Amino acid sequence: MNLESWRNDGVLIVGGGIAGLALAGALYRQGVPCELVERAPAWAPVGAGIVLGVNAMKMLRELGLADALENNARLLEVMSITDSDNRILARTNLADLQPRFGASLALHRSALHDVLLENARHVPIRMGTTVESAEEREESVEVRFSSGDTARFGLMVGADGLHSRVRELTFGPLPLRYSGYTCWRTVVDGGGTEVGGQEMWGVGKRFGLVPLDRDRVYCFAVVNAPAEEPDPASDRIHRLRKEFSEFGGPVPHLLDQLRQPEELIKNDLHEIVHRPWHRGRVVLVGDAAHGMMPDMGQGAAMALEDVWVLSQLIASELPLEETLASWMDRRKRRVRWVQNQSRRIGWVGQWRHPLACRVRNELTHLLPDSATTRVLARLARQRV
Ligand SMILES: Cc1cc2nc3c(=O)[nH]c(=O)nc-3n(C[C@H](O)[C@H](O)[C@H](O)COP(=O)(O)OP(=O)(O)OC[C@H]3O[C@@H](n4cnc5c(N)ncnc54)[C@H](O)[C@@H]3O)c2cc1C
Repeated sequence: MNLESWRNDGVLIVGGGIAGLALAGALYRQGVPCELVERAPAWAPVGAGIVLGVNAMKMLRELGLADALENNARLLEVMSITDSDNRILARTNLADLQPRFGASLALHRSALHDVLLENARHVPIRMGTTVESAEEREESVEVRFSSGDTARFGLMVGADGLHSRVRELTFGPLPLRYSGYTCWRTVVDGGGTEVGGQEMWGVGKRFGLVPLDRDRVYCFAVVNAPAEEPDPASDRIHRLRKEFSEFGGPVPHLLDQLRQPEELIKNDLHEIVHRPWHRGRVVLVGDAAHGMMPDMGQGAAMALEDVWVLSQLIASELPLEETLASWMDRRKRRVRWVQNQSRRIGWVGQWRHPLACRVRNELTHLLPDSATTRVLARLARQRV
């Protein structure tokens, strides 16, 4: 199984999210034949906001996409943690990192999607299509699509997110771990001139806000709740206003801006901890491999790092088995660390006992600003 034979058979990318589109563009640039299938019948307006930390931006620079993004994004200079009365507990000075590692950005997800899609414009994309089955052959993987036709590829990449079908086809059904908390996201009017984002810690709940531009703020609201709790649209806005009624600072004003319950995206927050991320001619990237808690804002960053390293290795002279083994070797320690840290931060952020929360907040208040900034500097400095 040498490089030429499997590379010439092409790469099938399953899933046109951040990982899949970024990989499609990267492989095209390297002259590796690839195609992509996306389950959604058409591209719909994508999500709410997203923060791209220094390491995500580093990857986007490597992929040649940073300039296009910077035109549609807000430079993020600081991220603060406050209590529910808006008292600052900790600050991460992203501006301090900028001279050494570059900018952190906040933007609408659809702006990121547009740039990734434009970059992958030469790659054939089949919408409304998924993979029904995949069988390993001696020199290829044979895929049957939901459309009924079949095709052979040298490699299949599962970039199909947390609930990955490719993962299930390759490793069987694997349980996701539910965090115990659920999240609503939306973008509301009212950006202003703030240069920073903020996460407000209450008791068993958090409220986050990140200005995207002068007119829009990305908001997220996290509460402890059982998985799959009913969330009727008729009661959604009222419920959120009630859940966060004790929050001060900008929260009452932002909650007042909510108009359409359908604009609130709800996700029960799950993660998947499973290794390995490859078997035979199949490899998983991004959330399909290691969907994590969003509490460090690092899921997309890890997906972009996966893609960049994998595309570099695919373009190198290694046989397939070595390509995938080297890729996993490069990625596993760093991803595990981020996944564990994200889970811990989320767990502490969602504490539900008032006394424990008071102690948590006081201890966080004692942390020097440099402590949280150092974590990001470490991520930016380390080899991906
Ligand atoms: C509340 C929340 C906030 C977050 N905030 C941030 C943040 O600020 N910064 C950050 O870096 N990360 C953040 N993340 C994480 C980030 O969104 C994910 O890590 C990232 O989207 C993963 O990209 P992906 O391409 O692997 O998966 P996805 O974005 O899930 O994309 C998967 C794609 O595959 C398609 N698909 C699914 N199944 C199939 C199938 N069977 N066949 C074909 N196609 C399929 C889907 O339609 C989709 O297009 C957040 C996550 C959450 C839940």
